[in-house]
Amino acid sequence: MAQLTIGILDGDDIGPEIVPASVRVAKAAAARTGLEIDWRPMPIGRSALDSHGTTMPEGTLEQLTTMDGFILGPIGHRAYPKVNGAINPHPILRKHFGLFANIRPTRSFPGLGALFDDVDLVIVRENNEGFQPDRNVVAGSGEFRPTEDTTISVRVITRPGSYRVARAALELARTRRRKLTLVHKNTVFKLGCGMFVEECYRAAEEFPDVVVDEVIVDTFAMRLLRDPQTFDVVVTTNMFGDILSDEAAGLVGGLGMAPGLCIGEGNIAMAQAAHGSAPDIAGKGIVNPYAMIESTRMMLEWLGHNRGIDKAVAAARLMQAATVSALAQPETRTGDIRGTADTEGMTRAILAAIEKKDSHVQA
Ligand code: ATP
Repeated sequence: MAQLTIGILDGDDIGPEIVPASVRVAKAAAARTGLEIDWRPMPIGRSALDSHGTTMPEGTLEQLTTMDGFILGPIGHRAYPKVNGAINPHPILRKHFGLFANIRPTRSFPGLGALFDDVDLVIVRENNEGFQPDRNVVAGSGEFRPTEDTTISVRVITRPGSYRVARAALELARTRRRKLTLVHKNTVFKLGCGMFVEECYRAAEEFPDVVVDEVIVDTFAMRLLRDPQTFDVVVTTNMFGDILSDEAAGLVGGLGMAPGLCIGEGNIAMAQAAHGSAPDIAGKGIVNPYAMIESTRMMLEWLGHNRGIDKAVAAARLMQAATVSALAQPETRTGDIRGTADTEGMTRAILAAIEKKDSHVQA
């Protein structure tokens, strides 16, 4: 029996280019470490609308519930036709699986056009509350228009939501440089950000080994550009985290360098790059597969630790070494990061590095 069962959801636009690339890389690494994975492709998004009459087919959610994790390609829901069944699957997945923590690392590599050579930080973004109107209420929308000239956007902050995302960030900090920065604006949002900060400090009481500090969000946006090296793990509310993680990606080469992992209440993990479906570059073969491959790697690593599967941790390590080696040469990285390779060329270079006889395999 396979040690892990993982769903494959290609998504839209560039999704069918980068998700299969990620699966190929993960399969190669798993084969080298002897990790058995049962891969289950499932329909979602625009292609599912054509084949199943809905972007979120019945059965997809139920099947995912039985799995250890899944790869979700980018979803281009804004371009869906206005028909029944064309819904945005994101909030459904995040809510259904209680994926409240979106872990978005930013790391610089030499030669890619990063603004600094030594950035290594992770933004942990609360994922199910905040200002995002498509997911901060059980029914209806967190945004409404009582009169033609007035729109009200509701921001939801809860104690349990703040506490649990803070805990996830603290646990992550413990595996890194043991520093956590709380990013908020409690000077203005005295109640909302105030509650968030209170709960972060409450969670931090259980992590005396992690040093906690706090920075007001606008100052943080500036400091991220001036001295990003001073940050290790950052925890913040939903919309601040969304914006700041794209800013952070800009420091290290752009959205192709922005991976992400969503984790939450259950044991399931969702690999999801921070970038969108980039329709402007879809089908041209030029997409940077790094963010999706790295998201997949993060999922394997997380599942390996969570389930105590050493072979999964070893496969993740192998993927990381191979990806870093491909990033090191212009011939094996894509144009957005100062390379000359196409998506396939970069993927093949990563595969070749995994398959090299002397690649470090340690389960
Ligand atoms: P969303 O709102 O769904 O996050 P978005 O409108 O912010 O999407 P993206 O789809 O994330 O836009 O892409 C923004 C731009 O970044 C794209 O036009 C594309 O040029 C670039 N980009 C995004 N992802 C990649 C990638 N993997 N490789 C190369 N360039 C990318």
